[in-house]
Amino acid sequence: MSGSAARLQAIDAVIAYEAPTPTFAPAEAPGEIFGRNVFTKAVMQKRLPKGVFKSVVATIEKQAPLDPAIADAVASAMKDWALEMGATHYAHVFYPLTHGTAEKHDSFFEPDDDGGSIAEFAGKTLVQGEPDASSFPNGGLRSTFEARGYTGWDVTSPAYVLENRNGTTLCIPTVFVSMTGEALDHKTPLLRSQQALATQAARVLALFGHRDAGTIVSYAGPEQEYFLIDRNFFLSRPDLLNAGRTLFGAKPPKGQEFDDHYFGAIPDRVLDFMLHAERELFKVGIPAKTRHNEVAPGQFEIAPMFERSNLAADHQQLLMVTMKRVAREHGMELLFHEKPFEGVNGSGKHVNFSFGSSTVGNLLLPGDTPHENAQFLVFCAAVIRAVHRYGGLLRASVASASNDHRLGANEAPPAIISVFLGEQLADVFDQIAKGGATSSKEKGTMTIGVDTLPVLPTDPGDRNRTSPFAFTGNRFEFRAPGSMQSIAAPVYTINTIVTEALDFIATALEERVAGGEDFNHAVQKVLEQIITDHGAAVFNGDGYSPQWQVEAEARGLKNLRTTLDALPELISAEAIELFSRYGVFTEREMHSRYEVAVEQYELSIAVEAKLTVEIAGTSVLPAAIRYQTQLAQNVAALKAAGVEADTSLLEAVSAPVRALREALAVLKAATFDDEAHGALHARDVLLPAMHEVRVAADELETLVADDLWPLATYQEMLYIR
Ligand code: ADP
Ligand code: MG
Repeated sequence: MSGSAARLQAIDAVIAYEAPTPTFAPAEAPGEIFGRNVFTKAVMQKRLPKGVFKSVVATIEKQAPLDPAIADAVASAMKDWALEMGATHYAHVFYPLTHGTAEKHDSFFEPDDDGGSIAEFAGKTLVQGEPDASSFPNGGLRSTFEARGYTGWDVTSPAYVLENRNGTTLCIPTVFVSMTGEALDHKTPLLRSQQALATQAARVLALFGHRDAGTIVSYAGPEQEYFLIDRNFFLSRPDLLNAGRTLFGAKPPKGQEFDDHYFGAIPDRVLDFMLHAERELFKVGIPAKTRHNEVAPGQFEIAPMFERSNLAADHQQLLMVTMKRVAREHGMELLFHEKPFEGVNGSGKHVNFSFGSSTVGNLLLPGDTPHENAQFLVFCAAVIRAVHRYGGLLRASVASASNDHRLGANEAPPAIISVFLGEQLADVFDQIAKGGATSSKEKGTMTIGVDTLPVLPTDPGDRNRTSPFAFTGNRFEFRAPGSMQSIAAPVYTINTIVTEALDFIATALEERVAGGEDFNHAVQKVLEQIITDHGAAVFNGDGYSPQWQVEAEARGLKNLRTTLDALPELISAEAIELFSRYGVFTEREMHSRYEVAVEQYELSIAVEAKLTVEIAGTSVLPAAIRYQTQLAQNVAALKAAGVEADTSLLEAVSAPVRALREALAVLKAATFDDEAHGALHARDVLLPAMHEVRVAADELETLVADDLWPLATYQEMLYIR
């Protein structure tokens, strides 16, 4: 069998694809589907004794500690509800540091004395689980104690029933901690950071006269980008299968130059999938809202409505799992990798961020009165200070081997973290910075408590797409997170750095007011100080331009190009002090996170290097040699027949064959050298060596006869469906 058999069979299978029978029942109105499988507040209200219900709601809304006495009552109601929904098992769902979702399933049923069985689910089983933690990364936190990890029910994230064709499971979102309570997951620090934010925001709001502002929480609205390819192609390529991205592949003749994909008509097969996936998302209460084609061929986006950020983070994980599962039912593989195809636009996950409460509304929404404006400007200034002081931490929160392929490239925000405010708002802060002095600008200066803001555009058209952290009218959009990662780290980082800024502002204002200063004057002075000290982070220009790199350096902003440049930010004295001051991380936890991230970086590149060696050595090179041999035989035959033989093609193929052999030898040595390892080796030796192999292989792809080529091409994967 020829080396290209797998590829050609995949193409045949794709052509023969038939859509599955639709599962849509027109009788199901979207309103009836939404949240159908969720143990919502409404369900609880119906099923729980009044006092128990009140206590649970207090825990959810005011972040009050859970009263252990009510656990049995909740567990029992939850079990009855789940059994009615056909559940046989329950699972504690948690979010380990792999960025994936983990779950441990147990049956409700226990044998009874009569040889039958009885459904059991006690409060303590709801509240705590004990999965073996040894197979999850922990960065040294666990080894000193024991393998056991503990999952603990997160009351703020509702339980839900997950359907499968063969049954349903009750899923309980949980935190995952070590025996001593150290966080082994992404959820724990996120919940802690929500509390810290609430405390400091309340201080600032109290100064503005809000004595009962409700619990302030942050909200997140993630926009998820992804690729879809036919699953036959996916299975035919070991690199996609094992690394989630192609390690080889010449650019397709038709790329995205035509700009004809973005917001174009969604192909039928994809729309089929989207409608199906969204229905599944609705059932578990995920408010999927927007869907559209993205810039690259085969690339799409889904954006749910924003929610409390801890819930949004859970929903985002569930969304990823659900989308991947449903895509398979439609014969497609969904790729969340940040850069599955070199030279083709990559995928990100923009995290839209705001904070507020139902009582005071969105604190990043400009108001109508001078008083509301002043409050808005204070919260906005907090974000500016936060980004300026801790831009490095924001960069570290999105650092991974896969996101390195995207950040800093001409499609994603640069690795320099700056804030885009838009023209009007930047001008307002400019005026504030100039203090009471008359400015030459026609708009003059702004006096807090007197002037109203100019109307700020909320239109996304005004958006600066090159900014990593952009104000978009009523929220900030953090554009650097990777498509594959959990949004938890970016969100708890933003929560914490904004908390610090609010703490600073509250203290400054409290002192000034205590000293007898007029409140509006105090606000004016504090804003002036913040914008003077931290305005360097504000940049409204083109983040992709080379001049920005130079200017940013002059402004003292960090440009942390790779993951390994960024990660040390996590263990800087400043970062450890910050996170421990607000109870988000202990020093040990920070170190463990750093170690896990470095290890994951190294591991993922090491796997890619091995795959590169394998694919180049056992697929690409043999195909190239076969073709080279055919050409050589052709030259020999022509010569023997007395015909003048043109050897140019043979030479053209022989050059990259030689280059491939040489590059492969270098990569092999670097990959299997027992002495050389570590993250720096991965970045500085393995990645460049892989690149050399790829360059030669991609050149061969454009030369070798199509019937011999072993790997599905970019053109096939991106355009055939
Ligand atoms: P665009 O592509 O223009 O950025 P989308 O509609 O794709 O806009 O996504 C916008 C995201 O921002 C959605 O998830 C939306 O729910 C979210 N969002 C809107 N308002 C807020 C807010 N106040 N806080 C947080 N997220 C928000
Ligand atoms: Mg969008």
